[in-house]
Amino acid sequence: MTTSTAVRPAVWLACLSCYNEGRLVGAWFPCDGLEEVSLAEVHGGAENVREGCEEVLGLDSEHLPAGVGEVTQDEAAAWGELFTEVGDSQWPALLAWCEHCSRSLDVNGTPSVVEFEEANQGCWGSFREFVQSWAEDCGLFYGWTEEAIRYFDWDAYERDCRYDFAVLDVPDGGVRVFRDC
Ligand SMILES: [Zn+2]
Repeated sequence: MTTSTAVRPAVWLACLSCYNEGRLVGAWFPCDGLEEVSLAEVHGGAENVREGCEEVLGLDSEHLPAGVGEVTQDEAAAWGELFTEVGDSQWPALLAWCEHCSRSLDVNGTPSVVEFEEANQGCWGSFREFVQSWAEDCGLFYGWTEEAIRYFDWDAYERDCRYDFAVLDVPDGGVRVFRDC
């Protein structure tokens, strides 16, 4: 699988024992495959591992949801697994969903892919554009006359839809829509 490094989540893994003794020892690692990272790699070589070095902690991160904070190696690895599963094209959507919508978390603090996929309605030019497509998919106008459809109150319908969806602006234009937030 090819992954774009532009959104690939990573953590700065530090040795806690060294940290507590005043030595900032650590390095950046991508979250996917993090469970394989050894103490020697964190220390930049086995010769730098001292007695007492054992526990590591992700002190900094990138491309993880804002608010995740410090993570253990297992927690960061769980985010890596999630990234592998979701893929780099959907990762920005997952981050936005984590940051703006309530979701249930498992023991490693990561959300469920199934829940994300159910919530994710994709990117649209505008919320109105989404709402019109949604209404069509729901069969809202089934059996209606063309005239009735022409006079349908889209503004009121769109307003009501705002209660059922989260609408987030996308930096380069358009909106992201999530269901049941
Ligand atoms: Zn150490």
